Amino acid sequence: MDRDKRDEGAEPDPNEELLRLARGIRGHVKRRKRLGGALPGEVGTPGPAAKPAGPASGAGAKPPPAAGRPTAPLPTPKPGRPGARSEPRPTVGEGPARDAADVKAQAAAARDLDEVRRGVAQCTACELCATRTNTVFLDGKGHSGLMFVGEAPGAEEDKTGVPFVGRAGQLLTDIVTKGMGLDRRDVWIANVLKCRPPENRDPTPDEKATCTPWLDRQIELLEPRILVPLGRHASMHVLGITAAMNAMRGRVHTIAGRPVVPTFHPAYLLRNPADKKECWKDIQVAMQTAGIPIPKREAGPGSAP
Ligand code: SF4
Repeated sequence: MDRDKRDEGAEPDPNEELLRLARGIRGHVKRRKRLGGALPGEVGTPGPAAKPAGPASGAGAKPPPAAGRPTAPLPTPKPGRPGARSEPRPTVGEGPARDAADVKAQAAAARDLDEVRRGVAQCTACELCATRTNTVFLDGKGHSGLMFVGEAPGAEEDKTGVPFVGRAGQLLTDIVTKGMGLDRRDVWIANVLKCRPPENRDPTPDEKATCTPWLDRQIELLEPRILVPLGRHASMHVLGITAAMNAMRGRVHTIAGRPVVPTFHPAYLLRNPADKKECWKDIQVAMQTAGIPIPKREAGPGSAP
């Protein structure tokens, strides 16, 4: 390590040192008298090393911030939730439902079936709104108290806005009229999804989750005596489970105090006509459960419509 140049050479004389110190003190006192107060750098002056004096240094006074120590940080605004919106959600009539939360809010706030219908007609909450011709809401007056719930509109339903009007719809109409002995208007018919999935593909889980508050509110407002979901998608939604069709059908479930009798979708029956008998058994169970009289000529074994 290098040494300071002053440390090199002969030792200083201690008497000389004392004399130099005394001269320095005398000069300092004279200058102080001349200026009539403290010199820069002494107590009470605004010099950089000065401590605060007087009332500002008393109890309760705030010390100045220490150099280099960070002061308390300013509160920073919290970032919003991803997808959070600042504007209020529109109710039915104020604007379309634009996402799943809007659908939930509008469906829950709808006071009657017409409000649900209007909410559905304006809905743009999933991408199916871009390819639909019409929303498909509900058919029938439901005098029997029985409500069929299908999966989603097909091409014919999309064109007309009425559920179950294609080939599968004709088979359902036959079940109601020829089998149950009712007019088609005596039952309600609705779907899980209100818009047609392109190319009749299955609804995605997101589409179902987004759209089903509309159906749930429909059911709440209509208060059917019995629900008959048609096919796996509708049955799983109504029952709130994931299961194979054959594990769900063939018996009466009770959901929220309401009997539910799942059966095959008519489109499946068109491809698998041998299962029409099984479907007819389910329909008879539903009719018995709901107290709907079964026409005698149709009640025989194997007399599926
Ligand atoms: S399918 Fe349902 S959620 Fe999607 S746009 Fe149509 S009504 Fe809205």
